[in-house]
Amino acid sequence: MKKLLLITIALVFFAFNTFSKDNRNSHYVTNQPPLKAQPYTALPLGAIKAKGMLLKMLELQRDGLTGHLDSVYSIVCGDNNGWLGGTGDGWERGPYWIDGLVPLAYILDDAELKAKAQKWIDWSIKNQREDGYFGPNPLPEDYVRIPGTQQGQREDWWPKMVMLKVLQQYYTATNDERVIKLLLNYFKYQQQMLPKFPLDHWTFWGSQRGGDNLAVVYWLFNITREKFLLELAETIKKQTFDWTTIYSGNAIRQLNPLPQLHCVNVAQGLKEPIIYYQQRPEQKYLDAVKAGLSALKDCHGFVNGMYGGDERLHGNDPTQGSELCSAVEMMFSFESILPITGDVFYAGYLEKVAYNVLPTQSTDDYMRKQYFQQANQVLINDTERNFFNDKNARIAYGTTSGYPCCLANMHQGWPKFVQNLWYATSDNGIAALVYGSSEVKVKVAGGVEVTVVEKTDYPFKENIHFTIQADKRTKFPFHLRIPQWCKNPTIALNGQKVEVQTKNNIAVIDREWSAGDIVELNLPMDFQFSYWYENSLGIERGPLVYALKIEEDWREVTKEGYDDTFWEVFPKSPWNYAILRSEIDNNNLKIETTENIAANPWNLKNAPITVKTKASRLPIWQMERNSAGRIPSSASPARETEKHEEVIELIPYGCTTLRISQFPVYSVRRQ
Ligand SMILES: [Zn+2]
Repeated sequence: MKKLLLITIALVFFAFNTFSKDNRNSHYVTNQPPLKAQPYTALPLGAIKAKGMLLKMLELQRDGLTGHLDSVYSIVCGDNNGWLGGTGDGWERGPYWIDGLVPLAYILDDAELKAKAQKWIDWSIKNQREDGYFGPNPLPEDYVRIPGTQQGQREDWWPKMVMLKVLQQYYTATNDERVIKLLLNYFKYQQQMLPKFPLDHWTFWGSQRGGDNLAVVYWLFNITREKFLLELAETIKKQTFDWTTIYSGNAIRQLNPLPQLHCVNVAQGLKEPIIYYQQRPEQKYLDAVKAGLSALKDCHGFVNGMYGGDERLHGNDPTQGSELCSAVEMMFSFESILPITGDVFYAGYLEKVAYNVLPTQSTDDYMRKQYFQQANQVLINDTERNFFNDKNARIAYGTTSGYPCCLANMHQGWPKFVQNLWYATSDNGIAALVYGSSEVKVKVAGGVEVTVVEKTDYPFKENIHFTIQADKRTKFPFHLRIPQWCKNPTIALNGQKVEVQTKNNIAVIDREWSAGDIVELNLPMDFQFSYWYENSLGIERGPLVYALKIEEDWREVTKEGYDDTFWEVFPKSPWNYAILRSEIDNNNLKIETTENIAANPWNLKNAPITVKTKASRLPIWQMERNSAGRIPSSASPARETEKHEEVIELIPYGCTTLRISQFPVYSVRRQ
């Protein structure tokens, strides 16, 4: 009785209008006037710890490529790199690696990894030129390039943008004031040089990826309030590729569109209009990104959230490739957009890429990766496919196979995802906008530090359990995202179900919290069916996409012309199934979930969920050019099916290596 009374009295449910005023968080680096107040604010590195499956992913990275790229890929990430003063690679790949290594090192609080990253950070800081330039020194004119490395022009603005992100993250973890000094000097240098040497002076990447530069300029403004930074921001914006117009217009809706839209730039550019929106808060910038994402989905989209982009945008046939860099850059774009807008659409989309696409594009030991993955992927080997500018082995699991950008850039995926599970709020509370097992320390209210422990088997299970730890009773708002796919969420406080008003899919519990308080969020997951290329069927449930389980035969290959061995994967069971229409119409799928979830659930053996449904093989659907042939249209494949029906098993997309995730559908004709 006492407990009930307490809940009734203490719960005050905020309407969003209080929240959306010009409040700004008091404890962390957040937008300062004249920049638009942001509803959510990123926490410093180290505040959020991964637990459960997410911790396992980080540990695999530590023991795999992220922890060892300096030896595995020493020609580029070893001591001769230009970013360490050497004469080797002087472009994006070294900084790419460190951009993932820094968050990994500080989230795991791992001394060895921190030391590896520190070398690169210290070199940049100690070797900044008098005029503010930092990074690799220009090479002598008679220099002969080392094969396998990329020099570009060492003055190129683009790779600096990656190192800016590294320094920003490192500062949040350490408060090393040398970073602020370096950035101020560098941005003064940029302000002086950009009129003569614009962002695209050396490569077009600098102009297409200017949003990443812009984000760090605003962040430094929020710390220093140096007015020249806002002028520099306008210059950078003017010199950056006009993503707002591109996403709002028809270019994305074309195949191989011109101006050339590279798949990774399209993902990375998504953040740019909304980064700039902080300085010029006009609706058109928000609208452009949504319009761009709709166009991508309509014309190039797959059920897994990615799009056909094997170099250029290449349509929505689910055997077109999607690049690993596109996946991690799209995630980072959403992670940048989410705290500025508070729009849960981006949180859901972020989970979709992280919990479906990301786990399957590297091997279980995190020692090999795929350059491209396919939504319908039935054979992985070193043969030719219908990719733009095809080089073979682009879908094999290798190191430098395909093209080595992803080998260096993949590391930011999981660590930054963990870093964006939690935010501080503009009303000095805590927000859980993306879900996964974790623990967070946040300053709330007037500066009291509280810890929240999040225990869950999400994305596989529906329950999320939060425990509050605090030294004293403290009043603060706790924001929880209600996923857009969830129709009947429930929230319980200390075992009692409570009604919480939600606005824009965010529930806010504003009350005085005590140590040991428990919030339980239940997010029932229903099947959702969607239709894609040739009316192919996609099956989702909650944050997960489901795909046909195909037995795998993994073969390690050594081949002349490749730096390293790579893995090919051959199917040991059939894949050319169509799903029976009535199974979908009657929502007749049978689901089985295992009680215990394995530490690494992302493989065939450990798949925690199996969905059974009826299907029949389509003999006309065969291989073409080493991929699953064009999907028979779902409009009329019935007469083509084999007579007998089978029960097939679907598992979470992220657990598959070979898969069909977009299916033909057939109906049984009544005679
Ligand atoms: Zn790449």
